[in-house]
Amino acid sequence: MSGLGLRAQLLATARAMNSQGLNQGTSGNVSVRDGSGLLITPSALPYDRCGEDDLVWMDGEGKVEGRRKPSSEWRMHAAIYRYYPQAGAVLHAHSLYCTTLACLERPIPAFHYMVAMAGGDSIRCAPYATFGTQALSDAAIAALEDRSAALLGHHGMICLAADLDHVLALAIEVETLARMYLQALQVAEPPLLPRAEMAEVLRRFADYKA
Ligand code: 13P
Ligand code: ZN
Repeated sequence: MSGLGLRAQLLATARAMNSQGLNQGTSGNVSVRDGSGLLITPSALPYDRCGEDDLVWMDGEGKVEGRRKPSSEWRMHAAIYRYYPQAGAVLHAHSLYCTTLACLERPIPAFHYMVAMAGGDSIRCAPYATFGTQALSDAAIAALEDRSAALLGHHGMICLAADLDHVLALAIEVETLARMYLQALQVAEPPLLPRAEMAEVLRRFADYKA
C-alpha cells in the first residue's frame, strides 16, 4: 500500500479491518502518525460511506482540522503516539475472539510462541473503563508497556505498529491467537511455554524479516 497517499492508505486499512472480519459496523477506529499530529477515522461513520475528506487530522491535544468529529477514542490514539515513539499506526477493533477474552478479563498467556509477536510473553488485558475516556486511554497505555497489543476489558483490542500495513497484520495475528486460545480452553487449560523459551523466541523475532 505504500504507493497510496496517507488518507487513501488509512481508509483502505479501516475498510480492510471490516472486510477481513476483524471488526463490524462503526466499532473500532484506525489512525496513522502524520507530521506533528495524527490522521484518524471519524466517529460513528461507516467506513464504506467514508471518503478521504471525512478523515480527521488533529494535533496531539485534540485540536481538529476537518469537517467530521474525530473518533471518540482519539485520546487513546494520541496518547499512544506520545508515549510510544515506535508507533506509526494504531488500530482498535471489537474483534470477536479478542473481545470474548476481554469480556472474561483474561489476558492471552504464552500458550503459543506467536504471542511474542506482541512483544512479550503475554498479551495483557486492561481493566474496563468507559469508551472515549481518559481513564480508558490511561489503562491502554499501561497495558501496552513493552508490548504492541493489548485487550481492553469488556471492550475490544488495541494494536500499534510502525505503519498501517503492519498494524493490520498484527491485529489479524492477535485475533488468530485469541481464537486458538479460546479453542484450546474448550478442551483444557493449555500448558504454557517457559519464560526462557519466550525470551529465545523474542530474540529470534528480532531477526525474522523477509
Ligand atoms: P468511534 O466511531 O467514535 O471511532 O467509536 C468506536 C469505538 O470503538 C469506541 O470505542
Ligand atoms: Zn471500541
